Parts: sequence; structure tokens; C-alpha cells
Amino acid sequence: MERVAVIGLGIMGRGMAINIAGAGYPLTVWNRTRSKTDEFTKMGARVADTPKDAAAGADIVITMLSDPPAVELVAFGRDGVIEGLGEGAVLIDCSTVDPSTSLKLASAAKGKGADFLDSPVGGSRDAAEAGTLVLMVGGDKAVLEKVKPLLMRVGNKIVHAGDTGKGAALKLCFNLVIAHSAAALAETLMLGTRAGLDPGLVLDAVNSSIAGSRLYEWKGGCILDRDFSTNFALKLIHKDLNLMMSAAYATNTPLPVTAAVKELFGQAKSFADPESDYCSVIQALETLTGTVVKK
Ligand code: NAP
Repeated sequence: MERVAVIGLGIMGRGMAINIAGAGYPLTVWNRTRSKTDEFTKMGARVADTPKDAAAGADIVITMLSDPPAVELVAFGRDGVIEGLGEGAVLIDCSTVDPSTSLKLASAAKGKGADFLDSPVGGSRDAAEAGTLVLMVGGDKAVLEKVKPLLMRVGNKIVHAGDTGKGAALKLCFNLVIAHSAAALAETLMLGTRAGLDPGLVLDAVNSSIAGSRLYEWKGGCILDRDFSTNFALKLIHKDLNLMMSAAYATNTPLPVTAAVKELFGQAKSFADPESDYCSVIQALETLTGTVVKK
């Protein structure tokens, strides 16, 4: 079996690494906050001292980090992944980043005689733990075929979006719908509450119609329960909205509604804990109106 390194053991990377270890792959892990590696030591994984050390000797290196600056630091910084990447290895970046970050990683991997795939994921903490993520892959199809058995341990659907950067581009399109949906949900529940309706009744009516969705069911329930525990952080969806606007600029695409949604999430970061779940976007509207949405 290929030797695998997982770099970044946050909400998503942790679940993915547990599934990889569970499938029997010899695993090395690295995380900036070292205490998050403790449970992996108990599973028999090797804990690397640096990203370079993690990548050295690995056949497949997976990075799962917050944002483009974190990916660039871990990849290109001192003792970074690229320094350790061996000839013939495959670097797979699962972080949500912009296509230009993926292109830089691909070029650096090529310089080491290695291959690169951008493979951001759909699905949250539960899907990462269950191994049911959707992988949106950019890069050479033959390289994807080589690593497919490993990827099918962390996900249950792989979409080959095209060449390098297309996985990253697809993920931004995917998250555009998520961000708009969360904003629409928050505004719907706020309007209903201020119109004198029970927000639970509003949610039930929406979810009983063609407009219903699993996202509305899950996040609507969290809002009504005032459960803002983090599955996907507010600060990360705001990062993604900024990446969408950069992609819009790069492709000369008007995204007027996304621009407004980005500002709403930006405000929410001031009114709610940026580390809390993105459904706390409701707290921006609550601060503006003085009305709390709850059961
Ligand atoms: P997370 O829990 O915040 O984990 C982020 C990871 O990045 C941690 O391992 C963190 O290390 C590391 N990191 C951040 N800045 C760093 C730096 N400067 N140097 C080194 N390491 C750094 O985030 P997550 O929810 O797992 O998300 C990871 C990626 O997946 C993001 O790109 C996110 O947009 C995407 N994503 C998330 C979800 C979701 O539902 N959560 C779903 C799909 C995609 P520390 O542990 O030391 O902080």
C-alpha cells in the first residue's frame, strides 16, 4: 500500500486521516498545533516534525489547510512540503483555494518530478468522518486513476472537473450555492419572525415545498436551537466568498448577489464568533434588527 502523509488535522483533515489509517495505509501526519496529532500516535501513525519531514518518503501527500496563505506557507515555506516531495510522488491539495494557488502547487510539484491534483471536497465534518465526501478533482486523469483507491476511502464520489485548477474552480461554484442558501435561510427566518410567524413553521413550510433542502433542514434546525457549534467556520465561508469574487474578477463575470452575500458574512464576522459555524450569519441580522430568531 502507498505511504500516505496527511498535513492539516483540522475538522476535515482529521476525519480524512482517520479513514486513511483505518483502511490500513501507512500514515504520517503533521499539524501546526501538535496536540492534534496525539490520537494519531495512538493509532500507530508517524508524527512528522515538519511538513518537509511528512512529505519525505510519502507516495501520496494530502494537504487540508484553511486558506491560500496557509497552503502557501506549508508548501513553499522553510521545511515545507515541496522541499520534502519525492520524485514520482503525488501531492493532493484538498483545501478550498483559488485556481491560481493550485497552478503554483502543480508547477512546484513538477519541478520535483512529482504530480499534483487539486481536490477540494464537498461535505462537512460528518462526511469527512464517514468517508462520504464529494471530491472535485483537477489535473491529469491518469494521475487521478492512480490515487483513486485512496480517494475512495475519504469520499464516495469523485468528479474529474478538468485540468489543474478546475477542481478549485468547481468547489467555488459549489460553495456559492451553499453561501447563498445560508443567507436566504437567515433572511427567511428573520422576516418570518418579524412578521409574527413561528420560525419553526416557516422552516417546515419551506422544507415541505420544492424550495426545501437538506441544508435548510440541518442549518435551520441549528439556528432554531441556537446551536452554532462549528462544522464549517464562518471565517472560512467568508474566505470562500472572497475567492469567488476574485474568480469573478479573473473571468469578468458579474456576481452581484454573491457580492451582497459576501458583505453579509463579513458583517457576521463582527457580530458573531468567526470560529463559530457559518449558520451564525443569522446573528448579523439579529444585531441589525434587535430580533432574535429561536424556537
Ligand atoms: P479547520 O478545522 O480550521 O482546520 C484548518 C487546518 O489548517 C488546521 O490543521 C490548522 O492548523 C491549519 N492551518 C491554518 N493556518 C495554518 C498555518 N498558517 N500554518 C499551518 N497550518 C495552518 O478547517 P476545516 O474546516 O478542516 O477546513 C479545511 C479546509 O477545507 C478549508 O479550506 C475549508 O474551506 C475546506 N472545507 C471545509 C469544510 C467544512 O465543512 N469544515 C467543508 C469543505 C471544505 P491548527 O490545527 O494548528 O490550527
